[in-house]
Amino acid sequence: MALFLVALTGGIASGKTTVGRMLVDKGAFLVESDALARKVVEKGSEAYREIVEHFGESILDPQENIDRAKLGAVVFNDPSEREFLNRVTHPRILQLMASEIERIRVETGDRAIVVLDIPLLVEAGVAGAFDFTLVVDASPETQEERLVRDRGLSREDARARIASQASREERLRVADFVVRNEGSLVDLEREVERAWEAILGAWKQKG
Ligand code: ATP
Repeated sequence: MALFLVALTGGIASGKTTVGRMLVDKGAFLVESDALARKVVEKGSEAYREIVEHFGESILDPQENIDRAKLGAVVFNDPSEREFLNRVTHPRILQLMASEIERIRVETGDRAIVVLDIPLLVEAGVAGAFDFTLVVDASPETQEERLVRDRGLSREDARARIASQASREERLRVADFVVRNEGSLVDLEREVERAWEAILGAWKQKG
């Protein structure tokens, strides 16, 4: 059996990180695209240079690192600027992802379940490029509660963030399995157990 690539996605604050950790406890290898996205724009990288050249130094923090919140605010309401940023970063993130996968392949003798946490799977148009797609689903109301309670966002900001992403329906459409995350963490653990069984089944079937 070769590597089995599982895309893990879901809306903001749906519970992707929590689910990813639970899957690691079951034996999966986790690759977090957010961590790779941060690495791609580190000071001194090619992407860093292109971004600063394009957006100017106002998006830097005092240490001259790219301030992701500032950059996010600039591209948030501007599709063409967002497209530029995606053009600079996405291919490089995919490259890093490919080398992480390769590292795991070598380390495990080509026999592992690799979970790739990709928050913007649907938005980036790469749904379907993986062996299995796992969607963490929470209602917009629950997402909003978590953003206000755990992240200190205002209701207005929380709603704007949620509205800027793909819709719940769009994500559910690409799912091979849906992990519902509306209840307690114990409920979530049970859902993840079912998801893991489904992943193992699909892996076996693929041979
Ligand atoms: P982001 O998109 O912002 O990276 P995420 O989808 O990775 O978020 P998590 O960080 O896993 O989501 O969860 C968001 C917040 O909600 C966290 O503070 C987490 O502890 C909390 N949370 C997630 N699931 C539950 C749950 N079932 N019960 C209570 N709190 C939860």
